[in-house]
Amino acid sequence: MLHRVHAAGLGEIAGKLDAGVRLTLEDGVRLFDCPDTLALGWLANREREKRHGARTYYNYNIRLEATNVCVASCLFCSFARLRPGDPGSYTMSLEQAWDKLRQRAGQPLTEVHVVNGLHPDLPFSYYTEMLRGFKRIRPDVHLKCFTAVEIAFFADLYGKTDEQVLRELQDAGLDSLPGGGAEVFADRVRKKICDDKCGADRYLAIHRIAHGLGMRTNITMLYGHIETMEERVDHMLRARALQDETGGLQAFIPLAFHPDNNQMRKLPAPSAVETLRVHGVSRLMLDNVPHIKAFWIAAGVETAQLALWYGADDLDGTVQEERIYHMAGSKTPEAMTTTAIRRLIRSAGREPYERDTLYNVIAGPEADLQSLTA
Ligand code: SF4
Repeated sequence: MLHRVHAAGLGEIAGKLDAGVRLTLEDGVRLFDCPDTLALGWLANREREKRHGARTYYNYNIRLEATNVCVASCLFCSFARLRPGDPGSYTMSLEQAWDKLRQRAGQPLTEVHVVNGLHPDLPFSYYTEMLRGFKRIRPDVHLKCFTAVEIAFFADLYGKTDEQVLRELQDAGLDSLPGGGAEVFADRVRKKICDDKCGADRYLAIHRIAHGLGMRTNITMLYGHIETMEERVDHMLRARALQDETGGLQAFIPLAFHPDNNQMRKLPAPSAVETLRVHGVSRLMLDNVPHIKAFWIAAGVETAQLALWYGADDLDGTVQEERIYHMAGSKTPEAMTTTAIRRLIRSAGREPYERDTLYNVIAGPEADLQSLTA
């Protein structure tokens, strides 16, 4: 295979990886430009296996989007409604949000993942009380809630600093931040597709503050729309630089653009090959981020399985309900049982490891055997 890597023009990059030399922006662009997807995948898989062997992580979680009312108008978004009362808009009461967790009292879930639209009329206590309520119902559950874009919005709306918002949410039970809202960090792209969101510097600064407060976070990248290869790699390098500073990132999560029911519907969705290549380049560029996640709802189940040979070592979790991607045309189911996820990982030739949000292992590959013999 090394012969093929050299023939594909990736010999110098392979040499750098062997020597532990960091890849540059030019290297990243060269990887994207290389037409030999297998050679790229082989290099990415080598890095994946150096870190994780055949291990593939997933978790038992639920996802909750408490409101889709949002003052922003991101071009790729099919989920948001501008005003309360607009057709298709909704805002859960706190009781309704808490019920989502109460209804799953019998499930051994370890994480609640919450992201929302940027609602202009809710009080800050809606969010702090939501967290407190979740912890009352399940004191041991990990609350991974609110993107950095939401944190910036809260700070501006309620007249607080970003740090105050994070501290107050942490006091109410927030454990970590999800990686949404990063899109593509380049100004050119943000201005065109998500001009209402906070800029890249503030997004990264909020993650930096969260890390300083002891929280772990993830970073996503929305790919497959108007971004250039340079802008993709630049995005990865900004995440890598933050990680050098703080060490607080757990996972990098490439998210495929879905074109249904939004203002960018004329663009095609990225292909499966593109998805594999983005995961592969992410693994190679982000040498200091432990995990590359193939979020099965965004990538598609089969492509996410393949991505486990292209740099990814995590599939996210059971999810249970999902609106953001399904309103944009995702054809995946909205939920998977842990049995289905484990089977998916095994049939991809990898070993399933259930983890909690912080990647503590809850059940290794032997769990399948135990359930068969129990
Ligand atoms: S992506 Fe988020 S911030 Fe943008 S319009 Fe949709 S819900 Fe609002």
